[in-house]
Amino acid sequence: MTTHAPQAAQTPQSVKLPATLDEAVAALAAMPAAVPVAGGTDLMASVNSGQLRPAALVGLGRISEIRGWQYQDGHGLLGAGLTHARMGRPDFAALFPALAAAARAAGPPQIRNAGTLGGNIASAAPTGDALPVLAALEAVLIIAGPGGARREVPVAHLLAGMEMLRPGELIGFVRVPLLHAPQVFLKATGRTGPGRAIASVALVLDPARRAVRCAVGAIAPMPLRPLEAEQWVASLIDWDGERGSLVPEAVTAFGEYVAAACVPDQPPAADGTEQPLPPGVLHLRRTVAALARRALGRALS
Ligand SMILES: Cc1cc2nc3c(=O)[nH]c(=O)nc-3n(C[C@H](O)[C@H](O)[C@H](O)COP(=O)(O)OP(=O)(O)OC[C@H]3O[C@@H](n4cnc5c(N)ncnc54)[C@H](O)[C@@H]3O)c2cc1C
Repeated sequence: MTTHAPQAAQTPQSVKLPATLDEAVAALAAMPAAVPVAGGTDLMASVNSGQLRPAALVGLGRISEIRGWQYQDGHGLLGAGLTHARMGRPDFAALFPALAAAARAAGPPQIRNAGTLGGNIASAAPTGDALPVLAALEAVLIIAGPGGARREVPVAHLLAGMEMLRPGELIGFVRVPLLHAPQVFLKATGRTGPGRAIASVALVLDPARRAVRCAVGAIAPMPLRPLEAEQWVASLIDWDGERGSLVPEAVTAFGEYVAAACVPDQPPAADGTEQPLPPGVLHLRRTVAALARRALGRALS
C-alpha cells in the first residue's frame, strides 16, 4: 500500500526515467518528494482529479527487468511492470490461469495495455482484480530498497496493512507458485461490459498440499480467505482419484460456506431475535455464493 505525502507543487517539476530497478530506487532517494508511476492509470486519475500533486515523477516504464517473467525454483517470478494485456496472453495463462483471467477482466483495453501488476498491488484498491488471485496463490512480493536491498513480504501482509512499502521502496517482483493445477477467477460487476467488481472469487487447487485456496475480492478493503470452508472442501476431494467426483451438493454447500464466512449474519437484536440481512447484503451474499460455487465447479471439472 503506497502512501504519498501531500505535495505543494501543481505540476511535476522533474520526471526521471530510470533503466533499472536500482536506478529507480536511487532516483526516489535523490528526490524524496517524487512519486513512482508505472502505467499511470490509477496515479494520473488522482492527479487529474486534484487529489495528488506530485512534485516529481519516477517513471518505471523503461525498466525492462520488471516487464517480463521467469521461472525460479518451482515458482514464477513476475515483474511488477507486467501489464494486464501481457498477463492475459496464452503463454502466461497456461501457467497462471487465474491471474490471466483477472488481467483479462481488468477494465477496458486501454487500461489493460497500460496498467501493471505492481500498480494494481500498490494501489491496493478493494476492486483490484489481481489481488484475490495473489491472496489465493499466497504470493510474495520482492521489494527493492536503497543500496540494492531486497526484502520479501507476503502480498496478504501488505494488503492487510501488517507491512507497508517504506519511503523510497518499489515493488520489483511477485513470486507465485507454479501449481500445475486448475485455477479460476470469476468476477461479478454491476453492469455489462468491462467494469469494477462488486465481488470476485479466486480459487486455486494445490494437489501437492491437498489444499483448496480461495479468496473473495471487492467486498472488503482486502481479499478475504474463508479458511474453514477451504479446509472442509479439501477434506472431501479425492486427491488421488477423480477430483471431479465431488457431489454437486458439496459444491453448492461450499459456495454457501464461503459466502456466510465473508458476508456474515447480522448480530442479533437486543431481545435476542435473529436479524435478517438487508436486501443489498443478501444479494451480495448470494453473488459470492454463486461465484464460489461456480469457481469450485470449474476447477474440479
Ligand atoms: C477506467 C478505469 C478502469 C479500471 N478498471 C479496473 C478493473 O476492472 N480492475 C482492476 O483491477 N483495476 C482497474 N483499474 C485500476 C488500474 O488500471 C489498475 O489498478 C492498474 O493495475 C494500476 O497499474 P498502473 O501501472 O497504471 O499504476 P499507476 O497508476 O502507475 O500507479 C498506481 C500506484 O502504484 C504505485 N506504483 C506503481 N508501480 C509501483 C511499483 N512497482 N512499486 C511501488 N509502487 C508502485 C504508484 O506510485 C501509484 O501510487 C481501472 C482504472 C481505470 C482508470
